[in-house]
Amino acid sequence: MRPSVKELLGVDAAGQEVIVKGWVRTKRQTKSAAFVEVNDGSCMANIQCVFDAETAGKPEIASTLEKVSTGASVSVEGTLVPSPAAGQKAELRATGLQVIGEAPPDAYPLQKKAHSLEFLREIAHLRPRTNTFGAVARVRNRMAFAVHQFFQERGFSYIHTPIITASDAEGAGAMFQVTTLDLEKVASSGAVDYGYDFFGKPAFLTVSGQLNVETYCQALGRVYTFGPTFRAENSNTTRHLSEFWMIEPEVAFAGIEDNIDLARDFIHYLVQTALRDCAEDLAFFDARIQPGLIESLKSVASGSFSRMTYTEAVAELEKHKGVFEFKPYWGCDLQSEHEKFLTEKVVGGPLVVTDYPKDIKAFYMKQNDDEKTVAAMDVLVPRFGEIIGGSEREWRLPLLQKRIADMGLNLDSYWWYLDLRRFGSTPHAGFGLGFERLLLYVTGMTNIRDVIPFPRAPKLADF
Ligand code: ATP
Ligand code: MN
Repeated sequence: MRPSVKELLGVDAAGQEVIVKGWVRTKRQTKSAAFVEVNDGSCMANIQCVFDAETAGKPEIASTLEKVSTGASVSVEGTLVPSPAAGQKAELRATGLQVIGEAPPDAYPLQKKAHSLEFLREIAHLRPRTNTFGAVARVRNRMAFAVHQFFQERGFSYIHTPIITASDAEGAGAMFQVTTLDLEKVASSGAVDYGYDFFGKPAFLTVSGQLNVETYCQALGRVYTFGPTFRAENSNTTRHLSEFWMIEPEVAFAGIEDNIDLARDFIHYLVQTALRDCAEDLAFFDARIQPGLIESLKSVASGSFSRMTYTEAVAELEKHKGVFEFKPYWGCDLQSEHEKFLTEKVVGGPLVVTDYPKDIKAFYMKQNDDEKTVAAMDVLVPRFGEIIGGSEREWRLPLLQKRIADMGLNLDSYWWYLDLRRFGSTPHAGFGLGFERLLLYVTGMTNIRDVIPFPRAPKLADF
């Protein structure tokens, strides 16, 4: 394959004959030369293609140069030479030029000036051609691979859990319904008969792969899922998407402390990988998006995570009641403002909060002996709060049955989940890491809609 710009910029430039293909970022023409900056997405840096006066003056090149504008795709032939300019190792001394696809300047929306992230959201099909979104895409790619590397290196099996589920038993949030019923007909008939629906009963998009992955955990021991999940909550925040990717490991014969260690090692691994392998993109985020990003990532790359129980966290928050919109009290769900306060003002870094009140957590979490709290562990980070939510699971059949009944859920629909506790039950634990929250954390971007290629949110499903 033809070398990418990244590869060309990585070798010693010694007059190699090469062809560069990519999209023009800028063109500058002076009397003595023409400069075309080409980016091919392989890295943040462009390769500068220099046409000296003689070359630029050749009729076929001069007329082609006229068609070169920001956004056009081009093929440039030339020799790779050391660059006299600071900040770049090599440049291309161009000898040939072809415009493959023009991008008329009066119509192409991405001109040289910086565009707002809001504007770029409206052209999600073109935004990957900007520095910011190119960098986000490369970091996202590297982090996805690192997720698999981390678990594969530790003997975890990747399990594909279903996306369509007919049990509305997952309990993690409002669900999107999946149906092949003709809604217009249903409306005019005045009644729904699910017997005619595709699965013969109501079906939904999954909000979490956890319940399914627990079945494989109880056979393979160490497992994880990494797939899309869907939540129909009407939460229009910078931290929530209606469709997001979640990583959910689950480990047999493990307790909450093992779970916390795994979560910390996982974050360490991901941050270290980003610092090592995405240095150029992180330098851009540090300079343009989130000053201090690299420094703060370095400090979490191997540091310990602070710990607090929920009860201690609330006691801490109650000392500062006045600063919150939502007054904290024991039993309340921690709000993002509380989580940010704890991580930013109280501990100054990642914080693991454990032992939440059972009434604000899911039915499957292991009940503590105090009968008020469960063995939950959330990992909170500065800037947006919760990045991981996890727990030890209730593995004792009678306690799980009682909890399901007490919460008013239908025991019958959990028959297979309860079977895991009937046959060879084990203490086990796991967590969910929102992949886009991780990307917010690593890139310093502030809106979750900017770290997924095509965001889905209430009233937003374009492209
Ligand atoms: P939050 O309280 O922040 O809304 P949650 O407690 O509802 O999140 P969990 O059910 O614990 O979330 O899901 C596990 C992880 O998935 C969260 O820690 C978070 O990283 C991520 N996550 C949850 N909901 C969303 C969402 N709507 N968009 C993006 N990521 C999400
Ligand atoms: Mn949670």
